[in-house]
Amino acid sequence: MCFETEVSKIENLKVLRNVSLKNYCGYGVGGNVNYFFIPNTITALIFGLKICDTYNIPFFLLGNGTNLLFSDKGFNGAVIYTAKLNDIVIKNDILQAECGANLNAVINSCIHNGLGGLEKLAGIPATVGGAITMNASAFGVNISDYLQDVTALVDGKEQNFTKKECNFGYRNSIFLKNDIAILSARFKLRKENPFDLDITRKECLSVRGAIQPKARSCGSVFRNTKVYSAGKLIDEAGLKGLTVGGAQISNIHANFIITKDNATALDVYLLIEKVKETIKRVYNIELKEEIQKIGDF
Ligand SMILES: Cc1cc2nc3c(=O)[nH]c(=O)nc-3n(C[C@H](O)[C@H](O)[C@H](O)COP(=O)(O)OP(=O)(O)OC[C@H]3O[C@@H](n4cnc5c(N)ncnc54)[C@H](O)[C@@H]3O)c2cc1C
Repeated sequence: MCFETEVSKIENLKVLRNVSLKNYCGYGVGGNVNYFFIPNTITALIFGLKICDTYNIPFFLLGNGTNLLFSDKGFNGAVIYTAKLNDIVIKNDILQAECGANLNAVINSCIHNGLGGLEKLAGIPATVGGAITMNASAFGVNISDYLQDVTALVDGKEQNFTKKECNFGYRNSIFLKNDIAILSARFKLRKENPFDLDITRKECLSVRGAIQPKARSCGSVFRNTKVYSAGKLIDEAGLKGLTVGGAQISNIHANFIITKDNATALDVYLLIEKVKETIKRVYNIELKEEIQKIGDF
């Protein structure tokens, strides 16, 4: 049997060929991927990954694509899109979510059930898997702060990772540079008044609305250094509005690159390189990307 025949036999796994990644990237750019898997169940995800492994097909786990820059040349392999794996279950103060659950849906469930902790993360356009991988944070709260444990697939076997074993850091975790698929996660939250939680959520959303551009983006492009805010450095270097093709440094938030319909991944890539060169020349500081570049540039 060949790879295509085997994957086509997996129940609850939709397999598409030659899919454009543009629709799955915050910047709306990127080439095609050979295989695009949409598992409807965790079991289908596991079988899909195992067959990729057997046939040595490179794979990539895609959440909401809001931290990714796909190359115009695309990705040679399989992209596993987790959006349909979105179950959320609450028991007492524990919330369990599948990897593709939308973070804002998780926060809605928390607030509805009077469970506090994650409400300041409202507005981050992430899936649970993407947010844990990146250790997403906002307003002083990291997603890892309330994480209890993660179930993941390692070398074809399900494994439990305690919070400590996830090795969380600033926009970092054990999942970032490893072929480990997060399947589901549990959060331990605290009982709070839903009304108060909703007020906090709305305040955070309102601040976001005021300081972030509404155009297409992948949020902050560069990591802050230990001392400096990347956005402040870029702003003070006079780079707001700098444009390459259809990509531009936002005039509203200097750490955001926004894209127009005609943008390519190369435009975004070259703009990133221009910013890095300028900040190195002007301040002798090497900025590092927060976003991930996928494929060849
Ligand atoms: C308008 C805007 C505002 C933003 N604000 C913030 C903010 O306040 N704070 C913040 O931290 N970030 C922010 N971001 C960035 C981004 O939303 C986060 O990095 C988010 O965590 C990415 O989640 P995602 O589901 O889109 O992941 P993706 O971009 O799809 O993937 C990110 C990484 O996670 C991996 N991944 C995804 N799912 C799994 C899985 N199931 N198992 C293993 N690995 C997986 C991917 O392979 C990739 O390495 C913002 C982005 C935008 C566009």
